[in-house]
Amino acid sequence: MDQQSSVPKHALPSYLNQNDLGAWGIFLEQIDRIAPYMGSLSPWIETLKRPKTIMVVDVPIELDDGSFAHFEGYRVQHNTIRGPGKGGVRFHQDVNLSEVMALAGWMSIKCAAVDLPFGGAKGGIRIDPRNYSQKELERVTRRYTSEIGSIIGPLKDIPAPDVNTGPQVMAWMMDTFSMNQGYTTSGVVTGKPIALGGSLGRVEATGRGVYVAACEAARDQGIDLQGARVVIQGFGNVGGTAARLFFEAGAKVIALQDHTATVANEEGIDIYKLLEHVEHHGGIKGFEGATEISVDEFWATETDLLIPAALENQVTEKNAHSVNTKILVEGANGPTTPAADDILSDKGVFIVPDVLANAGGVTVSYFEWVQDFSSFFWTVDEINHRLERMMREAYRAIRETAKYHGVSMRTAAYIIACTRILEQRKVRGLYP
Ligand code: NAD
Repeated sequence: MDQQSSVPKHALPSYLNQNDLGAWGIFLEQIDRIAPYMGSLSPWIETLKRPKTIMVVDVPIELDDGSFAHFEGYRVQHNTIRGPGKGGVRFHQDVNLSEVMALAGWMSIKCAAVDLPFGGAKGGIRIDPRNYSQKELERVTRRYTSEIGSIIGPLKDIPAPDVNTGPQVMAWMMDTFSMNQGYTTSGVVTGKPIALGGSLGRVEATGRGVYVAACEAARDQGIDLQGARVVIQGFGNVGGTAARLFFEAGAKVIALQDHTATVANEEGIDIYKLLEHVEHHGGIKGFEGATEISVDEFWATETDLLIPAALENQVTEKNAHSVNTKILVEGANGPTTPAADDILSDKGVFIVPDVLANAGGVTVSYFEWVQDFSSFFWTVDEINHRLERMMREAYRAIRETAKYHGVSMRTAAYIIACTRILEQRKVRGLYP
């Protein structure tokens, strides 16, 4: 305890429920777990447990019927030592401070794990967008952008799409910020429409990154991708792109699940035909090139690669025992619970963690930001080539660290990321 006050030196943030820190509590535990590996950087570790800036704003708008509504908006910059904050903005009725803080922390880890010159940030508005018109959502977005305007910017903090936000919301954010600045500032957000300075290759970047990470893992584990068996949960942006790339590489996607159905085909599913089916039917249900199987059968399918690319908390202590894969590549954020992680590790499953596996999206966001600065735009081939190189380098550095310390790829990714952040903290020193 500090002699001068009753506040403990390492007090938890007073603005959170001390008895239930929620998602932020999980982030703190993850930092505690890698603390023993920080060596001479240990005195700086508290830096990671304190978000740099937390902004909570009131977002009032006039609704279409002339009445008024108020929403709670957040922007948290977890850490900006390595560069501007980077992280999405989500519109969801359950958004809360603890969640936004944790998501910002995970962005710091992800950006540092793949060595991007960004810190971590995240934003959100507590709103169920399904209940509001496009015009109302535009007003919410613009007012929120104005309210957080003083802390965002191409050199400060760069928002991006997340749950329930996409290119249109980014276009409104960019326009609002630019209007307030007095000049067009494309680099304030990424994930913009191409016409506004968005990057080619961004849409499929995360799925492509998942594929590259999976290829590296397969090589490591002595699995030939040609003819390898692949099971994927989620057939959207991430899962659909990864499935196509596996298919094109000669791997066999033998089981797939989305929100409409769970299907399998031992001979391998024709992904081109399935993509066409999904375009017309909105989901994989009814696809003639595969048969429906149960959810339990899906998780127990014998495979070389399992790619959860849909939602968080999908591999749990309930199904982890039946999972029968050599490699698990986390396309989604947080698809494996800590308990399932332990079970799978005991079974010898090689896990490529989300902070590495799905970092392709933020990597191409980084390319978008660079292109906006120079107003010089790259070809899709240049983007894919650079993305693949950065993913491979990140994978190899994390793999080496995992071997050196005898730890999992997840722990290794955290060790690398935290070391990079804290090394910069140490060298820069504390101001004043
Ligand atoms: P998406 O909306 O394009 O696709 C989601 C897919 O999951 C769909 O096929 C949907 O049918 C399926 N799905 C939904 N509910 C399901 C359920 N209950 N059971 C089985 N399948 C279900 O989303 P996305 O962009 O592909 O994102 C997938 C995951 O990847 C999310 O966890 C997201 O946070 C993460 N992620 C995405 C990006 C990105 O750039 N898109 C970047 C990093 C992480």
